Amino acid sequence: MATAANPAPEARYVYRFGGGVSDGGKGDKNLLGGKGANLAEMASIGLPVPPGFTISTAMCARYYDEGEAFPESLRAEVADGLAHIEAVTGKRFGDAADPLLVSVRSGARVSMPGMMDTVLNLGLNDATVEGLAAVSSDARFAWDSYRRFIQMYADVVLELDHGAFEEALEIAKEDNGYYLDTDLTADDLKALVATYKGLVEEQWGKPFPQDVHDQLWGAVGAVFGSWQSERAKVYRRLNDIPGDWGTAVNVQAMVFGNMGETSATGVAFTRDPSKGDRAYYGEFLINAQGEDVVAGIRTPQYLTLKAREEAGAKPASMEEAMPAVYAELAAVFDRLEDHYRDMQDIEFTVQQGKLWMLQTRSGKRTAKAALKIAVDMAGEGLITRDEAVLRVDPAALDQLLHPTLDPDATRDVLTKGLPASPGAASGKVVFDADTAEKRAAAGEAVILVRTETSPEDIHGMHAAKGILTARGGMTSHAAVVARGMGRPCVSGAGTLSIDAKARVMRVGAREVREGDTLTIDGTTGEVMIGSVATVQPELSGDFGTLMAWADVARRLKVRTNAETPADCRTAREFGAEGIGLCRTEHMFFEASRITAVRQMILATDEKGRRAALEKLLPEQRKDFTEIFEVMAGLPVTIRLLDPPLHEFLPHEEAEFADVAAATGVSVDQLKRRASELHEFNPMLGHRGCRLGVTYPEIYEVQARAIFEAALDVADKSGEAPIPEVMIPLVATKRELDLMKTVVDKAAEAVFAERGHALDYLVGTMIELPRAALRAGEIAESAEFFSFGTNDLTQTTLGVSRDDASRFLTSYVEQGIYAKDPFVSIDVDGVGELVKLAAERGRAARAGLKLGICGEHGGDPASIAFCEDVRLDYVSASPYRVPIARLAAAQAALKAR
Ligand code: ADP
Ligand code: MG
Ligand code: MG
Repeated sequence: MATAANPAPEARYVYRFGGGVSDGGKGDKNLLGGKGANLAEMASIGLPVPPGFTISTAMCARYYDEGEAFPESLRAEVADGLAHIEAVTGKRFGDAADPLLVSVRSGARVSMPGMMDTVLNLGLNDATVEGLAAVSSDARFAWDSYRRFIQMYADVVLELDHGAFEEALEIAKEDNGYYLDTDLTADDLKALVATYKGLVEEQWGKPFPQDVHDQLWGAVGAVFGSWQSERAKVYRRLNDIPGDWGTAVNVQAMVFGNMGETSATGVAFTRDPSKGDRAYYGEFLINAQGEDVVAGIRTPQYLTLKAREEAGAKPASMEEAMPAVYAELAAVFDRLEDHYRDMQDIEFTVQQGKLWMLQTRSGKRTAKAALKIAVDMAGEGLITRDEAVLRVDPAALDQLLHPTLDPDATRDVLTKGLPASPGAASGKVVFDADTAEKRAAAGEAVILVRTETSPEDIHGMHAAKGILTARGGMTSHAAVVARGMGRPCVSGAGTLSIDAKARVMRVGAREVREGDTLTIDGTTGEVMIGSVATVQPELSGDFGTLMAWADVARRLKVRTNAETPADCRTAREFGAEGIGLCRTEHMFFEASRITAVRQMILATDEKGRRAALEKLLPEQRKDFTEIFEVMAGLPVTIRLLDPPLHEFLPHEEAEFADVAAATGVSVDQLKRRASELHEFNPMLGHRGCRLGVTYPEIYEVQARAIFEAALDVADKSGEAPIPEVMIPLVATKRELDLMKTVVDKAAEAVFAERGHALDYLVGTMIELPRAALRAGEIAESAEFFSFGTNDLTQTTLGVSRDDASRFLTSYVEQGIYAKDPFVSIDVDGVGELVKLAAERGRAARAGLKLGICGEHGGDPASIAFCEDVRLDYVSASPYRVPIARLAAAQAALKAR
């Protein structure tokens, strides 16, 4: 038989696994989906996997191409797949005496909430339920399975109102005075099945399907149908998953965790996904099925004795309750880690003492755990240091770089839940996902509070700063999704009672209403009223180790965009190797100098401007001195004044009088100057080097301030900074030549006055398409290029980034740009200009220094591009410096 790696010439859609057969393996995720590929892989290495088959993702596309219908050939292939399961299990699908039951499970390339939920126990009907009761000698089990099946099928395949079914179940329990589902007897369940069938007929207009093949095709169609559900689309959009990947469908023989006290179902991680410790981590439930563990119906029990003791929980751990199966499971964990060389997220079921593996995949983890696991695994020799560097998602580091709650701050603890996803967050309480999204869009920090979350809440969880739930364990939906998104989460805060309709939650007598401020600490599980002070993150330990390995691997230098001494200090602590962009205009806005700046703008001649600039010079020198001190010995790129001058004048009527008085002009004069400076399109107006060309004295004084400060610091500390003076918005070589002369003259003058000189460079920002095109001749004068990709994106795409929000989302949705081009560089367009400018520049001047200083300098995908075109450095905002270091290392490793 053909395999996934080696398919038959005719189109083939069904791949078997289990019972000694594996048509595919872990390399076939694109075709079989993650779940299907890993089931086949586990079966192929001899682990106990119930037999089944996977209908490939290719069928999903064909299903939609053919108007949501199945090709005839698929029926024959599925019949062969069923025959495989029947041969291995010795049971037949639809057999009234001893029926084969199956689960139908969706599975895309990457795990995707939003897809159809799994349907269990498919193949039960009024006849087969009797057979199941007879062969299992357990009528209760058979009827429990049947009622679960109808309930799930009605919910996920028929999409009926599941509330009515849950209500019927509650009534059945109440009528009998039961507390747990497991208290229901066979007869109770039989009656419940009848009620359920009535509900189906009432809501669906047809009786519950009794033909097992109709059941199967209904479920398969529902899986493919769910690929285009709103939930799935939202998730794909948030996670950059292409719509044409499609999902696979897995049909697998059922194994039963609900066959009494020697049966169980559970979920586990081979290491702690929250902290990263090397300890088995998980939960299980005796006499339960499928998602009972994560659904919060009963409180799950711990896997290990140690975890149970640490939590101070009473119910026996699996290690104690089922020692033999636990030992077998632990051996499987080790086997899987060795085999996949990564931490695994596992689902298993025990049927009457026999272990069955139902899923494995590389486990989602917090940034903290990702670091620890990568560093530990390199230490254990399971992976190399370079692999460890490649294992950590640079963007996820963000979680670790931000402040955490100050341990000494006073806190008003409302309650405590489980520490489900680390980090602290404060925000206004909201009780539903839509409100979370709305208020977050309006710029508010929100904490989403839910009894428990479901895939419908994804957009709200994404919008929220943190998530709090009253129910659900460490592997609940809220916990798993929050960890994946890097949102702090406290789950299962059991004392919390939430009235989402009234928009209020209570703990005892205390009330918190929508809009009140709450703080959650996902590292400890604490929930606090109000906001709590924070402290800076810890940068040593595993973080330091991995960063050091990254630094060995990377070629690109990493600088920072910073203009205050505080930011420079933060960036240096984060490992910045210089400043790639120090903007000077922020300095002009400071209260102590804005008046002098305005006097300069209001001056009617050069003499007046110089008088004002005289006042600015010492202030500007002080700015640079402080920065050079912090960045001693490192290159510092300073951009001369860039924004249009009107930005410095008042805009509000109320301000005119004060400003006129402070600057010594009349209100009329001030207004006249303001209207003279008005521009229709300031982005393309009188700014950048155009200011220097018309008022060279501005650049001259800025350059003087730079050189005086540099010499001061060199004299004082003996360690000279390396100023790189950057001329913005150059389009032609002549502009640069004029400005370079101004800077060089200022340098000469200062060096003559001081009696000694200093190395410095003069270069330009490449942020206009013309400059990129004429890079060859510009490089004859420029000693460095810094790609200002924010403006270069605006000017190349002809899109103003301040106005882009109105249409960009829709552009990205329709695939016009793969990602927001202001977040991730447009490689094909803007990237082409960067590449061309780099080539032409280097051809004209060997050793021309090249860097990037737009927002893109902190974006991992853009950094990979910078590695491709072999820039010398990237420059990122201080908190993104570690992200850039890691991304640069990964780009270098991937280029090898
Ligand atoms: P998800 O992608 O949401 O995790 P799964 O397809 O893994 O959905 O199914 C959810 C749960 O259903 C599994 O963890 C397992 O407990 C149960 N399940 C799925 N297939 C079977 C099966 N063949 N036998 C027993 N339980 C199953
Ligand atoms: Mg699910
Ligand atoms: Mg699963």
